[in-house]
Amino acid sequence: MGNYFLLFFSSLIEMLILIVYFSKKRINLFENKVYISLLVCNVICLVLEICCNLCANNILPVDRNVIVRLFLVFLMLWGFLLTIYTNVISVADNKKYKMIVIVYLILFLVLSVPLLFLPVNFLKYNDLYYADGSAINYLAIVATGYLIINIILVIINYKTVGKRMLPVIAYIFLMLIAILIHNVDPTISAINCLETFVGLLMYFTIENPDVLMVEALNIAKEQADKANQAKTDFLSNMSHEIRTPLNAIVGFSQNLYEENIPDSVKGQVEDIISASDSLLEIVNGILDISKIEANKLEIINDEYSFKKVFDELVSLTRARMKDKPLDFRFYYDESIPKVLYGDKLRVKQVILNILTNSVKYTKEGFIDFKVNSFIKDDICRLIISVEDSGIGIKKENLDKLFTKFQRFEEKNTTIEGTGLGLAITKKLVELMKGQIIVQSIYGEGSKFTIALDQRIIINPTKDLEESTHLSLDSEIFDLTGKRILIVDDNKLNLKVAAKMLEKYKIETELVESGFACLEKIKTNNKYDLIFLDDMMPKMNGVTTLNELKKIEGFNIPVVILTANAISGMREKYIKEGFDEYLAKPIERNKLNSILKKFLM
Ligand code: ADP
Repeated sequence: MGNYFLLFFSSLIEMLILIVYFSKKRINLFENKVYISLLVCNVICLVLEICCNLCANNILPVDRNVIVRLFLVFLMLWGFLLTIYTNVISVADNKKYKMIVIVYLILFLVLSVPLLFLPVNFLKYNDLYYADGSAINYLAIVATGYLIINIILVIINYKTVGKRMLPVIAYIFLMLIAILIHNVDPTISAINCLETFVGLLMYFTIENPDVLMVEALNIAKEQADKANQAKTDFLSNMSHEIRTPLNAIVGFSQNLYEENIPDSVKGQVEDIISASDSLLEIVNGILDISKIEANKLEIINDEYSFKKVFDELVSLTRARMKDKPLDFRFYYDESIPKVLYGDKLRVKQVILNILTNSVKYTKEGFIDFKVNSFIKDDICRLIISVEDSGIGIKKENLDKLFTKFQRFEEKNTTIEGTGLGLAITKKLVELMKGQIIVQSIYGEGSKFTIALDQRIIINPTKDLEESTHLSLDSEIFDLTGKRILIVDDNKLNLKVAAKMLEKYKIETELVESGFACLEKIKTNNKYDLIFLDDMMPKMNGVTTLNELKKIEGFNIPVVILTANAISGMREKYIKEGFDEYLAKPIERNKLNSILKKFLM
């Protein structure tokens, strides 16, 4: 009826598991509850086995028949609890857990009854007692039953459940060994020891990581998420807050510039425009870098016309050169496919950055802008290079070039810049899985080369000539007879927009809220276009647009006119249902494109 050494050893291990398991915090999972039941059942089995031994040696004055039967019942219960455990870890749906428990417990209650009545004999072997008889054989038959169920569950679910099945597998193998040992020496019952060992294995495999650590990590993650959100909100607000007054400054100075003013004043107005442009560039740069650092900058791929991007880059660079005596040479490989698939805006942004730097840091000489290509299967590798005869970069500075807020032109501190451009460029190129390298000789010039893989589109799904409306012209045309409704809660912004549109002889009507805009449309006022601000109190632009669309027969194009200009915003507003997007401060060429698109 058991070996004292095994019993002592099992009890020791069981005690240790209980102390460790219950002294730590636990996750309230169903499988953990089953595990606790297994531990408790194992303790009872150990106590009963000790009692059996004490009774057999007449130390404990209790009927050994009763104790042995109780022991057999709890041994069977342990087997059923293990089968419940195997089922629970195999089933993903936790609604089924209760059902599994009920079914197995009813089965256990029914099957355990014969253990109370079937005969048990007490035999002596090597001076030690052991139990035998129909009750024991009956328990062996039931145990074979749940062993088979466990084997089937292990075979079916091992791949999905993984290491949590290990204790069950160990149980199956060790059970077979225990039966063999029992056959050789019937006084050695290793079952209890085996159950303790399985309980010990389970302690390491159940889903019970250090709960305190998980809780601390969760709190830290929550705090970091909150801080990150606060930073994003702050940036978005800052962008809005800075752009709103900037819009007025740029708008009014542009208007002034176009008036008949004396040349001396014109020069100063030009300076105001240029300073505002720099400020805008800084705001955009800081927003971009923060988005990149927060992993929030997405690469939005779509089909685009390479030639259009190239032409736009050439025009923009020319505009930036103004009257600098620079020989600007540009070339692109004619074999570059017409339509490519990539993030057109980002491709343009990175190339424009290095082109703008070349213009900034080259006083005289040349700028060479070249795009070559290698085609392999459906991928076109663009090799974009920009070489200049500018001030160059010292060897020791080349490594730090792509670090944010690094600027080196100590000789010429009058050149405006933030030191953010190349940091953003590098991150963007990496996000697009490309590469950027720089070669430079201080005092002679620099060469930046970017390699970018773009997919080739043979059959474009849209007319790309049609879908890019942005032109670079800033000439003003006559739109007499056209009416535009401008909606903005900020009076100054309304005034700026109206002033800009006045030049085209457009008739404008100004309202200060979404409600007023709805009222105008409902009372049958006719407009050709609506410019709608987004961030307005009580009813924002998006809600106003949704309300407008509910009005029967409403078909006026609506352009979002917003200071919320962080990257990705255009796509967001187009998705919301706006027909176009115009960022504040309003750029004349972009306004022209929109007016041409909707009013001509
Ligand atoms: P920014 O131009 O706003 O200062 P960038 O990140 O674009 O910031 O450039 C970082 C620094 O690298 C510049 O301040 C300049 O010293 C140097 N640099 C960049 N491009 C060139 C170039 N083409 N020629 C010489 N120096 C350059």
